Amino acid sequence: MIDGVVITIDGPAGTGKSSVASMLASRLVLDMLDTGAMYRALTLQALSHGVSTQDPEAVDRVTRECIVDFDFAVNPPRVLLDGRDVSAAIRSQSVTEHVSHVAAHRPVRERLVLAQRRIATAHPWLVTEGRDQGSVVFPHAPVRIYLDARPEVRARRRCEQLVAQGERVDESVILAAIIRRDALDAGRATGPLRCPEGAKVVDTSDLTQDQVVDRLETIVRAMVGHTLQQRHAQGAAPCA
Ligand code: C5P
Repeated sequence: MIDGVVITIDGPAGTGKSSVASMLASRLVLDMLDTGAMYRALTLQALSHGVSTQDPEAVDRVTRECIVDFDFAVNPPRVLLDGRDVSAAIRSQSVTEHVSHVAAHRPVRERLVLAQRRIATAHPWLVTEGRDQGSVVFPHAPVRIYLDARPEVRARRRCEQLVAQGERVDESVILAAIIRRDALDAGRATGPLRCPEGAKVVDTSDLTQDQVVDRLETIVRAMVGHTLQQRHAQGAAPCA
């Protein structure tokens, strides 16, 4: 009896991780874990308590007891902060601006790493995406992927998303924010953004979303296709 497969997808902001992770999970009939949403939820908590996100003690005090979880009954899963649906609120501009500061605090990371492993125990057939999934949280995952893209491409994609949401944007400001967030994510002491050892690197700069998902699906099927088929044969899930 096979008890699961964890596929990790890491990379900087704007590489399309969330969308392609979600599409890949649908194709392979796996659950999908958006770990950035967990850091965003704790950032929302810190902001709603009016504490400075750069004050480690204050952030720790107001987030220590929080439970961040997901409702996997819907797709994409709803993000729950102490049982409250915060899926929309965590996407605000102010959360985006502050999240890398909150994510740099060691106690926050330690708690969320444990929470992510707990979620993977409950949902062992999983695509999980973030910054440290293949390097720190699931270093023994059988498939580890690192998505990258040129910063200008990532900034343009982010602008397109914001315009689609009806926001006015200045591409140079977005590019500067992306570069700043990359530097914070890659430069922190705990769980920095880096390409996991042995990860398959896919540069998405010149690929459409469908092409990226096709490429990832090919990688996954080459590495763990047999396991996915065995799961199918056990009748647990259709093999898409
Ligand atoms: O992926 P998303 O942009 O929603 O992530 C928001 C932020 O959360 C990232 O910029 C990063 O600072 C933090 N993060 C992290 N580790 C993860 C996932 C996200 O530090 N595994």
